[in-house]
Amino acid sequence: MSATNTITSSGAQPGTAAGRCRFCGSALSRTFVDLGMSPLCETYPSASDLNRGEIYYPLHVYVCEHCFLVQLESYESPENIFSDYPYFSSYSDSWLKHCEDYCEKMIRRFGLGEGSFVTEVASNDGYLLQYFARRRVPVLGVEPAANVARTAIEKGIPTLVEFFGAELARTLVATRSCADLVLGNNVLAQVPDLNDFVEGLKILLKPRGVLTLEFPHLLRLMEQRQFDTIYHEHFSYFSMLTATRILEAHGLKVFDVEELSTHGGSLRVFACRAGDVERRVEPGVSELIERETAAGLASIEGYQGFAEMVKGTKWALVEFILTAARQGKRVAGYGAPGKSATLLHYCGIGKDLIEFTVDRSPHKQGRFLPGTHIPIYHPDRIRETRPDYVLILPWNLKDEIMQQMQFIREWGGRFVVPIPEVSVC
Ligand SMILES: [Zn+2]
Repeated sequence: MSATNTITSSGAQPGTAAGRCRFCGSALSRTFVDLGMSPLCETYPSASDLNRGEIYYPLHVYVCEHCFLVQLESYESPENIFSDYPYFSSYSDSWLKHCEDYCEKMIRRFGLGEGSFVTEVASNDGYLLQYFARRRVPVLGVEPAANVARTAIEKGIPTLVEFFGAELARTLVATRSCADLVLGNNVLAQVPDLNDFVEGLKILLKPRGVLTLEFPHLLRLMEQRQFDTIYHEHFSYFSMLTATRILEAHGLKVFDVEELSTHGGSLRVFACRAGDVERRVEPGVSELIERETAAGLASIEGYQGFAEMVKGTKWALVEFILTAARQGKRVAGYGAPGKSATLLHYCGIGKDLIEFTVDRSPHKQGRFLPGTHIPIYHPDRIRETRPDYVLILPWNLKDEIMQQMQFIREWGGRFVVPIPEVSVC
């Protein structure tokens, strides 16, 4: 596998094979869902960019008939996507709490201390490693986005500005150390060269080291119709079945799994080297694989029907917003997450229907959503303009957002949650 992305053949005819499976190399021909065209979702134009064109890429998702990996073809080099990445992990309270709890659990369960070494791949602004550092556990972050890595370094979290893969892992082992704990949160989906990345994770592990990976769970994506979590920066969508198969192919053994509520339903998979015979495989691993098999994820037929369900979700949301517009109601958005680009483009919702959105991140305020150019303001804008409806775009944080914004009740404002079906509360 090469270190760069596969570029789709521009001369491909409709119905021809789309490319090769990112994991097993089989030809991809089976559509999981086709969400049309969308711009890169983490590129937020500023006012001076608005008269420039934006490139749209297809959001056509395939499922591999051989290994069942659900995947998008990558159309943009990762350097373009991640070099100035506006997503700073430290702007969500519930996410930070999740990370602090994780850190405490890992320290207890695996006996980590001052003599241990923890490495995080895609360590962002040090949002997680800071909790290990506070407990005096030596850490190293690897983060390709230079602006985000700088924030981590300023906080005192040692961070390498690099793309992770087998080669970097070998260099780290040669120049620093293998790690007792290697972790990757919400990065596996974003890796163009999946096999090289997983190989690197294994290389970094000490013989008795532990790897934990968190990623959105495909089973939940399908059950909850979370089609907007499909965007260009997410190349792969994993079930427990496929994640286990990929890790095993690289000499790793999955020994435990936890189901988490983050990002609409995620998995935290625990793995170790296949040769680590002392680590017992917990019963939850086979239980979850059985549940996925019962849900149809071990056969190609199980992946049919998702596209139709997604269409139903779109129609219900569009119907609601159009009705509100006809009644003269004002709708504002809350949040500017990556997933909002998919939702708004697939549903054809522009600034004629949503006047503006707000976001807590100062890096997004004053900018615009990609493609639709819906302006992004500070959350105070909601109080100042008193919209009738607030459409929660990061619906995975809806409880936290409703809590923070409950003052909209003062003027009879209501929240709208788009997924799995539009609901007004
Ligand atoms: Zn495959």
